[in-house]
Amino acid sequence: MLLDIRNLVVELPVGRELRRIVADVSLGIREGESLALVGESGSGKSMTTKAITRTLPDGAQVSGEVLFDGKLVGAMSKRELETYRREQIGLIYQDPRAHINPVRRIEDFLLEGLLLFDRRPRAELRRVISDLLAEVGIADPDRCLKSYPHQLSGGMLQRVAIAAALSTEPRLLLADEPTTALDVTTQAEVAQLLKQLQARRGLAVLFITHDLDLAAQICDRTAVMYAGRIVEMQPSRTLYASPAHPYTRGLLQSRPSVDRRYERLPTLPGSPTPAYEAPAGCPFAPRCADRMPVCSTYVPHLTRHGLAELACHLGAGAPGGN
Ligand code: SF4
Repeated sequence: MLLDIRNLVVELPVGRELRRIVADVSLGIREGESLALVGESGSGKSMTTKAITRTLPDGAQVSGEVLFDGKLVGAMSKRELETYRREQIGLIYQDPRAHINPVRRIEDFLLEGLLLFDRRPRAELRRVISDLLAEVGIADPDRCLKSYPHQLSGGMLQRVAIAAALSTEPRLLLADEPTTALDVTTQAEVAQLLKQLQARRGLAVLFITHDLDLAAQICDRTAVMYAGRIVEMQPSRTLYASPAHPYTRGLLQSRPSVDRRYERLPTLPGSPTPAYEAPAGCPFAPRCADRMPVCSTYVPHLTRHGLAELACHLGAGAPGGN
């Protein structure tokens, strides 16, 4: 397993109290595999990625383990951590404009990190980044290298950010809502690009999104988060066709579709709950049409039922849970 997260719990200080943001997350990604982590805002997915890079806010309390290639990230020395972040992980963010220096040309942005540790001459590194820009679909890499960020569209800038993430040849790509800030057409192009790069380079990818359709298009497997926990994990193909958890089913049913006609689009009642406000028992119980007395008492843990891993007391009795 390249990335192995075991029973991760993250709490953040707010005033004098500690608020639980991630309640219990366990997942693994093998070399060359892609996993989508899907959840609404506040479900804990971004804090899970920060735990992977050990970039949680000051004062965060963490328990559980994050292992990369068998090595405990929490036990890495400062130097090991720098090498791990720089060479093993490529990060792609939601809004590239917030992460690319607006007053420097694209060439300087792409070279500045590489020049710190890559001893090859600048001209050679320039060829490397020019080839990378071509690989991510920039039609005129030389012109792009001479441009400032404000001269590029959002889609082109996200391609530049993807090139930057790939420039150190990482083994794991962490993509945090990389298409959310883009228009629908560009979103589809960038999603397709990520899928192609993952297959061509044999990359492991953790794709963070709130969009189940996008997750199914891009990733081999999908994990659904609710209130700081993974409630369902399946191959994307089967999750999409036969979701097992009532929350996943609700999410899929409440998407508009061009193939169906509605009197009224189905919705999930209530609103999402952060982990620190979750009730006793199953955190989804107040919104669940299938809840049973046991649901208000015992937290359901992720257990395997055929191809699906499911945190629900319905277990194998859930649709798609066999
Ligand atoms: Fe619904 Fe109970 Fe399953 Fe929670 S454990 S999702 S309340 S059926």
